[in-house]
Amino acid sequence: MTEVPVPTSKISAQLTDPGRGEHLWTIITMHRVSNDMIRHLSRGAEPGPELLDHENLITLEGPGCFKCEQPYSRYLANRKCTGTMTLNGEQP
Ligand SMILES: [Zn+2]
Repeated sequence: MTEVPVPTSKISAQLTDPGRGEHLWTIITMHRVSNDMIRHLSRGAEPGPELLDHENLITLEGPGCFKCEQPYSRYLANRKCTGTMTLNGEQP
């Protein structure tokens, strides 16, 4: 089993805008969580290193820009990002 420690500072962390016009490239991973782990987390307990182990990895999506919600392409990477960090697309 390969275990990756989960820094508690990364759980529900606030994202930082890299700047107006800059893309925020991301890759999203999805891990299957066991019933025991869900109960553990719902009690507010530390997730432990097994939360993000490779055996639980279901899928990996991306890369794409979090702000403009477009998949990566060399064309897009050479253009300014028109997205925002807000849910409604308004400039903060
Ligand atoms: Zn973007």
